[in-house]
Amino acid sequence: MNTQQAITVLGATGSIGVNTLDVISRNSDRYSVHALTANRDVERLFRQCLTHRPQYAVMADADAADRLRGRLHDSAPDIEVLGGAGALVDVAGMDEVDCVMAGIVGAAGLLPTLEAARKGKRVLLANKEALVMSGELFMQQAQAGGAVLLPVDSEHNAIFQCMPHGYVPGAGRPAGVDRILLTASGGPFRTTALDQLSKVTPAQACAHPNWDMGRKISVDSATMMNKGLEVIEACWLFSLPGSGVQVMIHPQSVVHSMVQYRDGSVLAQLGNPDMRTPIAHSLAWPERIDAGVDALDMFKVGRLEFDVPDENRFPCLRLAQEALSAGGTASAILNAANEVAVQAFLDECIAFTAIAEIIESTLAKITSRDADSFEVILEDDALARVCAVELVAAQAGHRMYT
Ligand code: NAD
Ligand code: MG
Repeated sequence: MNTQQAITVLGATGSIGVNTLDVISRNSDRYSVHALTANRDVERLFRQCLTHRPQYAVMADADAADRLRGRLHDSAPDIEVLGGAGALVDVAGMDEVDCVMAGIVGAAGLLPTLEAARKGKRVLLANKEALVMSGELFMQQAQAGGAVLLPVDSEHNAIFQCMPHGYVPGAGRPAGVDRILLTASGGPFRTTALDQLSKVTPAQACAHPNWDMGRKISVDSATMMNKGLEVIEACWLFSLPGSGVQVMIHPQSVVHSMVQYRDGSVLAQLGNPDMRTPIAHSLAWPERIDAGVDALDMFKVGRLEFDVPDENRFPCLRLAQEALSAGGTASAILNAANEVAVQAFLDECIAFTAIAEIIESTLAKITSRDADSFEVILEDDALARVCAVELVAAQAGHRMYT
């Protein structure tokens, strides 16, 4: 009998995808790769296909799919190459698939991740934007589909590990829990002089002190929008109000988050900052497997510090908390405006400090409404993108931005 779990890795060529394939390779007796997906990086997906031999390889970009088909034609003709956003959804929901790693960045990950949830897969959730956009509906659909939703984001994975025995995300407010203590590194600009922030470059923003991640989440970490998105993510996963999540700066990135109980106990999960730990945990839960991660050397760490985040330095954190309180589609609007503004900053069209300004203006211009269907959420996502692009164009002066 084949006891291997068949896995679809969405976003295989990214930082989460590459780390996932590393953990899978170390545990090839337990896992087989059913499908690998990427946006445009044909060469990397080609190499991953030769190593991991999936049944399907999907490129979201149709031209890239044609190129990949050409590359695989001689070396691995048995791998079926599909193209387009619909194919991402298909390989997430196929009957043969047991487990889906949701490793696409941004709103593009919503529909394939949702499909995996609806089809009752084991969903390893790295793509936090999906939950930020559609939290309530997404959790309902996962519940209705019988999916097991396991957090990969290191903080949420840590929180999950500190939850009461038998608790799973989506099972309501955990018994005896008072609050979550969500840790944040503070990113590369934690101590940069405030008047220098408007001059920082994309390369500086992407040089995270502790984590090696994709460019979008690296910029989100520098603005602390990442932590704002994570507050929203935590509230949906663990059924807590915004007031039940305390953000704290912890520059060492060793305590990945904590859970405070009503009896005064605080449980923490610690480890080296290496995403293979939460990936391995969510792959194998409730068992434990080898992740290739070095043992944590507490003597080397030496000291652990905790601090209150500075609101002036990190306005994006406040914007996310306000969007969470506003409810409805406000979080989807926040997320869309952030995606546009971060890309504009990475393209050197706007200053780092303009990211928060564009998000705040977009939230002021678009009135949020009840997020009672995915259509409404996607409509407001689209409206927010148009608005944010206009704001970017105004900021960028006469420079073209499309
Ligand atoms: P990344 O940029 O390194 O990789 C993104 C992946 O998504 C790539 O495989 C890319 O091909 C694919 N992709 C991008 N746009 C797409 C589109 N339009 N359609 C289909 N596929 C598309 O990003 P990452 O750092 O791996 O992050 C992935 C997700 O995981 C994000 O939501 C991020 O917030 C979350 N996450 C990442 C880390 C980390 O350590 N990197 C930690 C926690 C959470
Ligand atoms: Mg995180």
